[in-house]
Amino acid sequence: MTFPASVPSIVHNRIRRFDDSHTIERYVAEGGYEALRKALTSMTPEQVHEEVKTSNLTGRGGAGFPAGNKWGLLPPDVFPRYVVVNGDESEPGTFKDRELMERDPHQLVEGALICAYAVRATRVFLYVRGEMALAQERVGQALVDAYARNFVGNDIMGTGWSMDVVLHWGAGAYIVGEETALIESLEGKRAFPRIKPPFFPAAKGLYYKPTIVNNVETLSNLPWIVTNGGAAFAAMGGGRSTGTRIESLSGHVKRPGNYEIEQHNTTFRDLIFDPALGAGMRSDVPLKMFIPGGASAPWLFPEHLDTKIDGDEAAKLGTMLGSGAVVVMDESTCSVRAAWNIVHFFAHESCGQCTPCREGTTWLERILWRIETGSGREEDLDLLLDVSDNISVGLGWPPKQTTICPLGPSAASPILSSVPHFRDEYLVHVKEGGCPHGR
Ligand code: SF4
Repeated sequence: MTFPASVPSIVHNRIRRFDDSHTIERYVAEGGYEALRKALTSMTPEQVHEEVKTSNLTGRGGAGFPAGNKWGLLPPDVFPRYVVVNGDESEPGTFKDRELMERDPHQLVEGALICAYAVRATRVFLYVRGEMALAQERVGQALVDAYARNFVGNDIMGTGWSMDVVLHWGAGAYIVGEETALIESLEGKRAFPRIKPPFFPAAKGLYYKPTIVNNVETLSNLPWIVTNGGAAFAAMGGGRSTGTRIESLSGHVKRPGNYEIEQHNTTFRDLIFDPALGAGMRSDVPLKMFIPGGASAPWLFPEHLDTKIDGDEAAKLGTMLGSGAVVVMDESTCSVRAAWNIVHFFAHESCGQCTPCREGTTWLERILWRIETGSGREEDLDLLLDVSDNISVGLGWPPKQTTICPLGPSAASPILSSVPHFRDEYLVHVKEGGCPHGR
């Protein structure tokens, strides 16, 4: 994780400063678990909740729903209730939660405990993606060490408050990143997303009990918010996009990596071209397009570079900040191949419950592939849009879905982004018998 001097880097700054940031010795030496102590000894759960509402911290996993409001959806006095940590990061281009778990697992554990205290949870479940071996190892060791020092377990720090954390390793399915699928997986079942309503986790979550599912980065902000106050967090950024967030920058830039930026006061141009951030286009080939919020998000183009990294600004352009993954593509990129690549991923990861998603994503992939490889027809362009319209009615944003979860409409995003914008490039593929860039 890189934290350049040109932007605030105050929330997660421990990660890059120390090679041993994952150890409990370093974490405690840097004031770790003091925010939890402060919450347990001098704040009521309601006061902690109020600070999070004041911070206007929004979920960093994709949906961007305010965390404090989400906690407020729990029905009063219904117990047991659970906190589930969504560490199943798998949106293509996103790799910030993995680094947070690998390099600062105690911050996550402390954040999860603060959340559990604030919502009066019975137990915390921490779900780590199957492929993230180092993250699993580091989070597991962090829990062992935190238990040994009485930061987790019975009578935490002598405060009389007790909380256990259950660590669960996934098996590597993308769909588990969807909160109800993650809950199914935690219950030992196949990770099929549940229908909402009625299965909103706050009402009917894990074991059909009230459950808060929060993403790793979201919870990792809580120690800082409790220490410094929600108003201090809200003072960064602007509008409804407050605080800092970590952007995973990848693709054709000189310096790909995770960057913590101040929302609203940083633009995509800053992120991609600032010498301390992305440092510009690799080999100085001009920018063709970029994905602003993970593979599910509709694409943006060079004319959008001066857009603020702000959820509302992204929404005005018909896209989203999503999981915070910015994928940069230069002029050498084939837009058909790029769209196929993303659709191929979603077709592969479809859980198969809904016909429009199961069949539609597969059809989209096949049509794109025949265009790319020289068997495409001109009418395939309209066919791509028609199939997409059957998955995501009206082809608007945010998508209207005919499916149980957003995976289906996510596969339509690259179609909606590339077919209208690069129609001529698609037609060249059709007329010239395949991709002019070569296979
Ligand atoms: Fe499964 Fe796709 Fe339906 Fe989601 S939209 S539930 S991934 S079939």
